[in-house]
Amino acid sequence: MLLNHTTSKIVERKALTVNPAKTCQPIGAMYAALGIHGCLPHSHGSQGCCSYHRSTLTRHYKEPVMAATSSFTEGSSVFGGQANLLQAITNIFTIYEPDIIAVHSTCLSETIGDDLGQIVSKAASDGKIPEGKHVIQAPTPSYVGSHVTGYANMLEGIVKYFAKKSDSLKNQLNILSGWVEPSDMRELKRILKLMKVKNVLLPDTSDVLDSPMNGKFEMYPKGGTTIPEMVSMGDSLHTIALGEWATEKAAINLDNQCKVKFSMQDLPIGIQATDRFIQSLAKLGSVSVPESINDERGRLVDVITDMHQYLYGKRVALWGDPDQLIPLVEFLVDMDMKPVYIVSGTPGKTFEKKMEKILSKSVPEAKYKNGANADMLLMHQWIKENPVDLLIGNTYGKYISRDEKIPFVRMGFPIIDRVGHSYFPTLGYMGGLRILEKILSVLMDQQDATCPEESFELVM
Ligand code: SF4
Repeated sequence: MLLNHTTSKIVERKALTVNPAKTCQPIGAMYAALGIHGCLPHSHGSQGCCSYHRSTLTRHYKEPVMAATSSFTEGSSVFGGQANLLQAITNIFTIYEPDIIAVHSTCLSETIGDDLGQIVSKAASDGKIPEGKHVIQAPTPSYVGSHVTGYANMLEGIVKYFAKKSDSLKNQLNILSGWVEPSDMRELKRILKLMKVKNVLLPDTSDVLDSPMNGKFEMYPKGGTTIPEMVSMGDSLHTIALGEWATEKAAINLDNQCKVKFSMQDLPIGIQATDRFIQSLAKLGSVSVPESINDERGRLVDVITDMHQYLYGKRVALWGDPDQLIPLVEFLVDMDMKPVYIVSGTPGKTFEKKMEKILSKSVPEAKYKNGANADMLLMHQWIKENPVDLLIGNTYGKYISRDEKIPFVRMGFPIIDRVGHSYFPTLGYMGGLRILEKILSVLMDQQDATCPEESFELVM
């Protein structure tokens, strides 16, 4: 009983978060930067921050995540880290030879007031950035927002630096991906190929954080959005931005800078959100939906129909990032499940409105909250008050799952005690099928393990 101190009595808290449902901004900045080809993320702060961010990403993706650090000591913490960053830029281009260095700040460098834009400009004017190489930067103070904010800030920094408008319009769409797995980015590309829609997907961590074992160490794997692709985004027909929290800033920037209009959409998780995505691709790409995609949708609907009795009315608690939770909750409601408790540590005003829209009619008893006080303790207390049948979220839910004996589907970031998430997508209709299979497996395992002997069934 690891969390046996948790009580069902909820005390109003203003200045205390217990087991937050989020992590640190720079982790998101690192992840976004890894989705561009030939890029080395750089953490402007202390070694400890960089180690934590790298190790969290490495544990989740089971791949060695490379990143450099300005390695602040007492001197730089007091007098500023400009000298460290200038030296780091020289060392990195000389020793590790990336095409791009993506610098993000940390709590420490933000608190002492280091201006990354000014330091990078100085590096350029001092001749420390070799011809054809690039240094981009994004502020990521971790005392506001979450890992999703860091991802959004770095994505904005990438677009701001690279996207250029020329005189020739390109027959392509920009797809800004929210924070999803490499497998999901691969799935997006598969769908786009089936739909015959020319595109630039940014970022793209497939073939970076799911690269095959080939016996060689590759500092910069073959995947990632390339520089010419990112430059061409300024000439695209339109941008589809998937996930408001992670991509809206970059989409607005592309619009302001290059006059490329954008559509904000949910990540294509589940049936309705995938329908909306496919319809947008068809409309904006002026293509028709191939039969094979209709068939994928049909198979997903078929399995839901076949297994409906195991899903109907099941009470679910979820935690994670808003961009995933919103379409996932919609998907659960579509399957007649009851998402009753939802928390996200990522702040943002539209979260509660969007949840209300999905849940107010179908699950009026649902409780949902986001921001600093929407933590795992609150979720556990809600569960103590009135239990649920299923948990869906990142690895940190395993304590509640064990203590309360509730089936648990791992989804989100980080997943540091299982594999599969970076190889099997949860986006699109095929991803929906995977979510459904995982949900059904744990619910049916639980039924097998706990039902009375006379109700134990061979065929389910
Ligand atoms: S919260 Fe701030 S100090 Fe802590 S690891 Fe993240 S960036 Fe570093």
